[in-house]
Amino acid sequence: MSDREHMAWPTYREEVRAGGPAAGDTVLGLSLRTTLPELRSIPVTDLPGVGPRIAAALNDLGVTSLADLVSHYPSRHEDLSNVKKISDLRVGEKATVVGRVVNVRGVGRPVRGRTPGLSVQLYDGTGYIPATVWGRGWLLTQLVPDTCVVVSGEVQSKYGIQISAKSIEVVEDAETLGENAHAGRFVPVYPVNKGINARRMRTLVRRALDEAGHVLDPLPAEILARHHLPNLQDAICEIHFPADREHLKSATRRLVFHELFLIQTGLAARKARLEKTESGRSHRGDGHLLNPFLKGLSFGLTGAQERVIGEVLEGMRLKRPMRRLLQGDVGSGKTVVAVAALLSAVESGGQGAIMAPTEVLAEQHYISISASLKDLPVNVVLLTGSQSTQERRVALEKVKGGEAHIVVGTHALIQRGVEFDDLSLVVVDEQHRFGVGQRTVFKEKGATPDTLVMTATPIPRTLSLTLYGDLEVSVLDELPPGRKPVETRMIEVAEREEAYETIRAELEAGRQAYAICPLVEESEALEDVRAAEELYGELAEEIFPDRRVGLLHGRMKAVEKREVMAAFRAREIEVLVATVVVEVGVDVPNASAIVIEGAERFGLSQLHQLRGRVCRGLHPPKCFLVGDPKTDDSRERLEALCEHQDGFRLSEVDLRIRGEGTLFGSRQSGMPDLKVAKLLRDIEVLVEARRAAFELVASDPTLRKPQHRPLRREVKELLGADVEWLFRE
Ligand code: ADP
Ligand code: MG
Repeated sequence: MSDREHMAWPTYREEVRAGGPAAGDTVLGLSLRTTLPELRSIPVTDLPGVGPRIAAALNDLGVTSLADLVSHYPSRHEDLSNVKKISDLRVGEKATVVGRVVNVRGVGRPVRGRTPGLSVQLYDGTGYIPATVWGRGWLLTQLVPDTCVVVSGEVQSKYGIQISAKSIEVVEDAETLGENAHAGRFVPVYPVNKGINARRMRTLVRRALDEAGHVLDPLPAEILARHHLPNLQDAICEIHFPADREHLKSATRRLVFHELFLIQTGLAARKARLEKTESGRSHRGDGHLLNPFLKGLSFGLTGAQERVIGEVLEGMRLKRPMRRLLQGDVGSGKTVVAVAALLSAVESGGQGAIMAPTEVLAEQHYISISASLKDLPVNVVLLTGSQSTQERRVALEKVKGGEAHIVVGTHALIQRGVEFDDLSLVVVDEQHRFGVGQRTVFKEKGATPDTLVMTATPIPRTLSLTLYGDLEVSVLDELPPGRKPVETRMIEVAEREEAYETIRAELEAGRQAYAICPLVEESEALEDVRAAEELYGELAEEIFPDRRVGLLHGRMKAVEKREVMAAFRAREIEVLVATVVVEVGVDVPNASAIVIEGAERFGLSQLHQLRGRVCRGLHPPKCFLVGDPKTDDSRERLEALCEHQDGFRLSEVDLRIRGEGTLFGSRQSGMPDLKVAKLLRDIEVLVEARRAAFELVASDPTLRKPQHRPLRREVKELLGADVEWLFRE
């Protein structure tokens, strides 16, 4: 098709501009200029042609309002824009022909009186060609001679040249082809279901676009200009019915930008608001605790640790509450950073708390932090859910009375009844194991304490900017010296003996090992215990009868867990059979091998965490993934693990395999679903949108300026009622 021919058809966009159907009176009586929030309040059932049956089918697709319908974006487009004259057709090409019907007949055996296929003879002034199409037999009576039709399909040579057509559409004439939603263009293909077919969906979306009229753009014009973005109205029309590939691309970019910009504006506003508050404490430690602690370490800090400790202390020095995310791969030494921050809080006369996701980890922190501070006048107290009433009462009193300087605990820390004397810093370890909701709970207790949130699940930068874009971020991007990569291998169940041989050698060299039981669904927790006991029996009695084997699972009493961990730490247990209770944080540097049973059942980041248990010593560690990956995804996960050591790299692989929906769309993330943006693909747009959003909020923190009002409304709508407070002055 030549450009000139193409230009002859108005694009949908041009139609709208020219006062075509979209700008005329609308059936629903909408004013010519609408906004997306307005469209959200109009149910799809108001649209002509949407009865109860269609409405139900749409509802299943998550489409209930007019806004949903116009933002039910196509999953792809069919390129039917290669329009050709009949005389120019070549065998083998896919083409679209506009012509008049010369004659038509049904083909195939009629089903319930209706012919399944059509054979249409077409003429377009340059020649004749027959076209066969299936599934549109009901058009038979409509296609009287001289009807103008558009046919798309492959040109074949079968008893002479013919078109094996995938679609046939009746149009008024060649000039109005541009108005047809189904032919001669980039035709949108939508996610559909049984109750609604692709063609109907297209018609409805088209109708909704017509009804919507001119959708006002909440993004300020100067931002559009600066980032070379089409306006919202054009972008929405073009993502459905693009004039060509270029328009589709720019429409998509605009909508990706839009989506990310709104989120970033919300985050920027939240950050701006927090930065304005002066309700935090300014920590000005004199180093009388921190310096001896650092000096007493058996190792020198890595450059990254030094830098990050500096960043954290600087953040704590400011009057505004610190909200910082510390990302560091498994084994990068986050605990030291946490302790440094806690000591700085204590030096300034406050209390510090550190919260861990499991009791095993809380206990471990308690033991190691107490030990590293034993020569200093610092009181460390443990608070967990499984303490006896008596223990707990004593601990609570110390916390309340201020006698406890550092409180280590689990969720029990944020339960009612825990009162602090003067809590000024909260460290949340392994934050990804907590729900996001808990991120803010501490705020309610006393003046706003500083928060340091630590995570070893390295999220790709794109994701962290989006999920935690309102937090300051510090990154430990360096492992302590001497760390050896964990030699990781995938083995089948039958090859287990090999893994055990390796472990035997490690044990003989005085080192220790973990054997991790297959993951069992939560609902089968008892099964979990059984599987653990079984594996324990096998290892203790058959494989390593001469070695000390221990067992640790989630159903054990806290005291028992404590004893087992203590014994493992003291090397009294050489092989620890465990469930995922050791997944995070457990730190026994002498352990140098890990066997993970049923590895295909674990998630990638979980496996990386588990493997992290043996990356802490100086001996080349080994990891065996025992399993039988049945799906491509699980095989890919295990292979990625064998190939890469870097958690950031793995998290990107993970994101790619799992798709982004699971990570981001979950309500738990507290973020809206992304409809068009793909975080891995759209990093550049994200960075652009983020910068633009933060600049805008810097110039107008509460979006009060008249030209920012529509934006403010959209952001509020998008992020939900709980951001109401964001824009309060
Ligand atoms: P994670 O970041 O996974 O929480 P940890 O804080 O548990 O890591 O540290 C892992 C291990 O590395 C611990 O045994 C810790 O004592 C040790 N470690 C931390 N920092 C250093 C360092 N700079 N040099 C050597 N070993 C270190
Ligand atoms: Mg840790």
